Amino acid sequence: MRTIDYYIDLERQQRNVDRTIRHEAFIEEFYAKNPELKRMDTEIVSQRTNKLTAILDGDFEAQKSAELIKQRVEQSKKEYLLKHNIPSNYEDELPICDKCNDTGYVGENQQRKVCRCMQEAKEQAFNAAGLGNFTRINAKNYEEDYCKNKVRRKEVTTKLTKIYQKKESSRNNIWIYTDKIQSGKTYVSVVLIKQIIGRGDTASYIKFEDIGDLSESNRELVNEADVLFIDDFSAALTTSGNNGSILNNILETRSGKELPTIFITNESVAELLAESDVRIAGKIKYAEKI
Ligand SMILES: [Zn+2]
Repeated sequence: MRTIDYYIDLERQQRNVDRTIRHEAFIEEFYAKNPELKRMDTEIVSQRTNKLTAILDGDFEAQKSAELIKQRVEQSKKEYLLKHNIPSNYEDELPICDKCNDTGYVGENQQRKVCRCMQEAKEQAFNAAGLGNFTRINAKNYEEDYCKNKVRRKEVTTKLTKIYQKKESSRNNIWIYTDKIQSGKTYVSVVLIKQIIGRGDTASYIKFEDIGDLSESNRELVNEADVLFIDDFSAALTTSGNNGSILNNILETRSGKELPTIFITNESVAELLAESDVRIAGKIKYAEKI
């Protein structure tokens, strides 16, 4: 299963190529301006080759001579660099991002964060988690008192975070996050999912109406993600088509692995119990409410 590390890794591979191309172009331009330096660098390389050949041939004299010439050119190069104020590391490939040195991360251990330069990798991971429609939602525009209900929002955020951290448990790892329409349930969930992914864990977001159309890779994520959010959950939809059995399978798989699943719904637990597919109602009975 792909965590954000996978997407960062892809980005880093591409960046290694970009960096080399950029560096080669830089050196070419640099040599055009400093032909003397190019001549010396070429000479150093050629004497290194001569020396190696001499070693292989067992020719001690030739080996010594190559070494001497090389040292002499190196000395001239040093003087040239000093005289022209050229830093001695001009040959080094410099990182494209100097904040993370192209590793993709800043900070260590618990403080480790994805570097800003990896925005694209982040977006890809969010997309893969099912958040393709929520590109504008992020922790920066998170409003604590959305709908003038600061206390509730804080309570929900804290609870969801604890569930993710496995500091809260329920009998079958199922949770019902129920609240009225337009109370920002999706928003709170999406912000948390993005944080979870940013930490290198996996989360998945699906709308319940799409449960029958999951691709194979999405199904794997839905079954194995560290946290699964099922949004717009409704009792009536559990009895439509194969929805009930698909959901039942997912819940059994996840419960077996002790992975939390969170239903997001406008319906009350009583409604869900009364009107859901009987297998699903049997599980909702033991779920915890948020
Ligand atoms: Zn960076």
